[in-house]
Amino acid sequence: MSRYVQPVPAPDDPYAGDALLRSWLERQLGAAGHAAAKDRLADLAAEVTGPLRAAHADAEAHPPTLVRYDPWGARIDRIDTSPGWEAQRAAAARHAVVALPYLESARGTWGAAARVVQHALLHLYGPESATFSCPVAMADGAAALLSLPEVDPAVRDAWLPRLVSTDPATAITSGQWMTESQGGSDLARSSTTGRPAADGSWRLTGEKWFCSAADSAMAVALARPEGAGRGSRVLAPFLVPRYAADSPLATGEAPDAPAPGVTVHRLKDKLGTRALPTAEIGLRDAYALPLGDPASPGLARAMTLVVVTRVHNAAAAAGGMRRGLAYARAYASARHVAGGALAVSPLHRATLGALAVDAAGAFVLAGHAFALLGRVEVGADPAAAAELRIVAPLAKLATGRLAVASASEYVESFGGAGYVEDTGVPRLLRDAQVLPIWEGTTNVLALDVLRAVTREDAGPPLLRRLDAAADLARPVSPALADTLAGVTGELRERLAGVAADPQSTAVVAGARGLALRLAHTLTAALLVEHAAWGDEQAELAARLWARRWLRHEDVAADAHHGLELLC
Ligand SMILES: Cc1cc2nc3c(=O)[nH]c(=O)nc-3n(C[C@H](O)[C@H](O)[C@H](O)COP(=O)(O)OP(=O)(O)OC[C@H]3O[C@@H](n4cnc5c(N)ncnc54)[C@H](O)[C@@H]3O)c2cc1C
Repeated sequence: MSRYVQPVPAPDDPYAGDALLRSWLERQLGAAGHAAAKDRLADLAAEVTGPLRAAHADAEAHPPTLVRYDPWGARIDRIDTSPGWEAQRAAAARHAVVALPYLESARGTWGAAARVVQHALLHLYGPESATFSCPVAMADGAAALLSLPEVDPAVRDAWLPRLVSTDPATAITSGQWMTESQGGSDLARSSTTGRPAADGSWRLTGEKWFCSAADSAMAVALARPEGAGRGSRVLAPFLVPRYAADSPLATGEAPDAPAPGVTVHRLKDKLGTRALPTAEIGLRDAYALPLGDPASPGLARAMTLVVVTRVHNAAAAAGGMRRGLAYARAYASARHVAGGALAVSPLHRATLGALAVDAAGAFVLAGHAFALLGRVEVGADPAAAAELRIVAPLAKLATGRLAVASASEYVESFGGAGYVEDTGVPRLLRDAQVLPIWEGTTNVLALDVLRAVTREDAGPPLLRRLDAAADLARPVSPALADTLAGVTGELRERLAGVAADPQSTAVVAGARGLALRLAHTLTAALLVEHAAWGDEQAELAARLWARRWLRHEDVAADAHHGLELLC
């Protein structure tokens, strides 16, 4: 008897096969702007489906290792990574995945929408980057922080060009050293201290508990400047050179040795993100450069970085969901059950259709956050800044949760094969689970949303967008318009309740529910806006999203019928 071997087709080209991505770019960039981005996107997509997919598998199969000592007993703390990881690093630089929004040429072509193009690059690059998307996010955050006018131009000039280089030989990435063992969310408990040196540099001492991309050339570390007092607001961001080559304190160490005062205790053995070196790092009078005046409360400056990494997190979630869908659809076309292809089973189609609705929602939410970020950076648009204040945490928290739920479904859609390591499918679930944890858990972000509403009056810009979307939806679908208007009214009342008594137990206990409701309603509004521009896929997605997430209805029958359009 012959042995059955399941053929497994490769999924579509992630750019050519993603109608929503292309129509989103057409709308956000205009036809000429999209045309100007096409070659860049097609080149990256071609590399993703070829060498980068292989590099991704290699990096996953060969996780980083820490070599603590050289053969003669000298402490070297070297992190060895795989060729696949290195290929991902080089590709990120070559394709300007970090650099694009900082390049004069890109700002000249797309203006504020250079961030929209970058989001498209991330959408293609992230899912099979072996989570090199993490150092990409942190490098972008560090570049945004270094771009602030408060930062010493000499520091900026020395480091920013390296972070945004498109030459793999000179490009660097950054880590960010914030979390300490006694407190990740609760930064007020940070105990790393900074003291000034005579030459204007600083020395940092402390223990950092979660340092991803620990092989990067630099890190942004939070420390409490000497005499700064308690609390989190006074914490200041510092640039720490990771290697001896960049540390003026080095006295003859090899250039790739750790900078004096920087010790890599160990690498974390993590559930996922296995190719990504995440370390525990000790600092003992390590050389550091202040990013802004350490005497002025620095957490606000550090938030520039955090906003960037949060929107990258949303992009990673949305990109991963879209790639999971592509893999599941390809598999369903080849797998046979009950006498036919899985792809024609109404039940399986409905399952994939609902996932496609979620992928569309996550995509527009992440896309909107990037569009706002671009408008803040280019042109300092105050309306965009006000909206981004609440959209960044909302986008991160909602997409993070969707990504985990979707990844579980994608694993299940492969049956037993989805549970087998070398199919590459289990990784979807493992890697998704970091998304709601890193850079603010769901609850921590929900509390941040409350702060945005009560301290920075972030509710009105959001409510205005929701009101406008209800009006836009009316000619297309009165039912959708009524749902949006009804939920917006409910949210208006809840936000008033928050403003009236922000510390009440009911408000704090309800923060997660409120934040998710806000994010889901915003997503419906964004899909409506895209539908009103003329996108048929977004129109169906908007209707099904609103029924699924705002009215909590079962959308199986419509998702089954609409599957092709939704993909
Ligand atoms: C793979 C990975 C990579 C990471 N990389 C980095 C990195 O590069 N740099 C870095 O600085 N950090 C990094 N982190 C750390 C991450 O940012 C923290 O783990 C995260 O912020 C949570 O902090 P914590 O671990 O101290 O958990 P805690 O803050 O102790 O949270 C525990 C639980 O308490 C809840 N909670 C916390 N505060 C509140 C509150 N006020 N109200 C209600 N509930 C609350 C949380 O939601 C969570 O469920 C990484 C984490 C992971 C998993």
